[in-house]
Amino acid sequence: MGQSAKIKKIFFITGTDTGVGKTMFTLTLGILLQEKGFDVGVMKPVQCGGSDSAFLKKHLGVDDSLEKINPYFALEPLSPYLAFKRCRKEIRVEKIIDVANELRARHDVLLIEGAGGVLVPIKKGYLVADLIRDLDCEVIVVSRLGLGTINHSLLTINQLKGQGSRVKGIGFNCLHSGKMGIAEETNPAAIKELTGVAVLGTIPFLKEISRREIVKKCAGALDVKKILESGAAPLSYEEWDKKYIWHPFTQMQDWQKEEPLIIEEARGSYLKDTKGRWYIDGVSSLWVNVHGHRKRAIDDAIKNQIDKVSHSTLLGLGNTPSVELAKELVSIAPKGLQKVFYSDSGSTAVEIALKIAYQYWQNIGRAQKRNIVHFEHSYHGDTLGSVSVGGIDLFQKVYRDLIFKAIKVDSPYGFPILKGMSRAEYAFARLKNFENVLAKKNKTIAAVIVEPLVQAAAGILVWPMGILKRVAELCRQYDCLLIADEVATGFGRTGKMFACKHEKVSPDILCLAKGLTGGYLPLAATLTTQRIFDGFLFPYKDQKTFFHGHTYTGNPLACAAALANLKVFEKEKTLYNLPPKIRLLTDELRRFRRLAHVGDVRQKGFMAGIELVRTKDPYEHYPWEEKMGARVCQELRKHGVILRPLGNVIVLMPPLAIKQNELKRMSDITYRIIEKITKRDKG
Ligand code: PLP
Repeated sequence: MGQSAKIKKIFFITGTDTGVGKTMFTLTLGILLQEKGFDVGVMKPVQCGGSDSAFLKKHLGVDDSLEKINPYFALEPLSPYLAFKRCRKEIRVEKIIDVANELRARHDVLLIEGAGGVLVPIKKGYLVADLIRDLDCEVIVVSRLGLGTINHSLLTINQLKGQGSRVKGIGFNCLHSGKMGIAEETNPAAIKELTGVAVLGTIPFLKEISRREIVKKCAGALDVKKILESGAAPLSYEEWDKKYIWHPFTQMQDWQKEEPLIIEEARGSYLKDTKGRWYIDGVSSLWVNVHGHRKRAIDDAIKNQIDKVSHSTLLGLGNTPSVELAKELVSIAPKGLQKVFYSDSGSTAVEIALKIAYQYWQNIGRAQKRNIVHFEHSYHGDTLGSVSVGGIDLFQKVYRDLIFKAIKVDSPYGFPILKGMSRAEYAFARLKNFENVLAKKNKTIAAVIVEPLVQAAAGILVWPMGILKRVAELCRQYDCLLIADEVATGFGRTGKMFACKHEKVSPDILCLAKGLTGGYLPLAATLTTQRIFDGFLFPYKDQKTFFHGHTYTGNPLACAAALANLKVFEKEKTLYNLPPKIRLLTDELRRFRRLAHVGDVRQKGFMAGIELVRTKDPYEHYPWEEKMGARVCQELRKHGVILRPLGNVIVLMPPLAIKQNELKRMSDITYRIIEKITKRDKG
């Protein structure tokens, strides 16, 4: 009995099928553990028909109540999903986990017996495999000896390993008293060899079920020592995350103190964390997701591509998906864009655009055109080139000595606006600065870079209609290339495929990333006109080649995902179906303006920003260090919504595929939490 204080173990016992002898295995293991002095608890969370729980309770002599050992019982011997549906009883996973934790605390070793095999549905959308993962315990697989065992055992073990569960080992039952055949004799060794999973032993056929008989016949049959050996430390992704990961745009000192949220699964507009909680993905996993997570058509396209080739370089070779995708992109892009240069992030798409624009003028002999104009509040990425054309001081100031000098002009966005002026009048007045710079310096300007219609990262700053068009006209007039960075606005975000299309603007260079693969894989594209492309066609010896190319440029898997993404747009008429949802978002946002600490609400299509302020009049921002935006988003997580703020702007940017009721739910919760947190701050 002395060892009991030293150990706390929990095992989930699952079968390769129904009727393989799980309960017998659980009983035998329980008795052998008891014989070694351990206090053993048992649980059968879900039982359909039969009396397994009572049987285990009786033979193990456990004094926990039957309700604890078996919290969910249905009479009919069916899958739990069906049995409980038919008797209209709801299974609550949280309750199972709570009871398991209680029993685990009470006993040295807790044996939890599953229902059937790992893919047996417990309730809609929830399998035994999910319960195993949510309980986060080691798993013992029970199989029966005989023909078909290898197949069933491998299927089970592969599923468990694939989902990251820790398989302690596999044990077998001999279900007859006769002589063993070749299959039965060789099953354990074959399975060990094929899976690498430990074999825990074989329980012989028992004529009589009693403690005495089990101890007598099975004492040497199961390797109890191996079962109790501690394997890897209990999984804690939260701890490992803190230990190993450096998160982007994150003050890691704060992160170390907080409870990280780790995502392990997703479906539609929802993300699921390692604790089994689901959240609305309100920012489309950083503005990338379009048709929802695990979209069958995109999943399949990637899987099919894997069966052909996963990567092959574009340096000196082509590959089929990148060719098909380039053709598609040219067909949907604003008029005049003819060539596609691939890379892998928004920043690299911009970096490439800047280098192309710069080199273009060098190549054609107008080397004095070497400056890039960008707007105040702009954001184009985090590589040094893209940071150079960033207009948000916070992201730029520390790298001042590393970045190149660009010309910053006033943003047409302004808030609060001057009294007596409409937003549009104000914006056009602000554009004068840009006009003046172009008029004065155009001979030295290579390109102008813009985020068309929405300066997103600065807090969803929406430009009034007409501004983009005017910017494009001025670029034409002064022969400066226009780079449209549609990394954030592309692929339907603003209600049209590209923001440029709202104002019929055709840039010289277009940057795409984020939604290009529907939120699946890192892929970016920089599109150019024929004129620019031709500016790079020279004899080899002139060394006017575009000397740029990332290793994974044009990756076939990512291109296949992007092609599937575009096909879904067409097949499901995504853009055609969007306006009612955009209207719903507009309607929902209206009430936010009435909140005491909401200073402004901005929206373009499916991009929205809610600006939190200390006071509206005078318009006073919350101090940066108060982290008001972050606090609201932190609280939102407790209510099942994931949003990421931009400073004190709460950004709503759900997948385009979000359902209207989900959108409404997200809006309701966000409203309540903003009200609650900002009110509390006041008090
Ligand atoms: N350009 C714009 C307009 C963006 O909004 C972003 C990212 O938010 C980028 C470029 C950078 O993209 P990435 O983070 O993929 O490098």
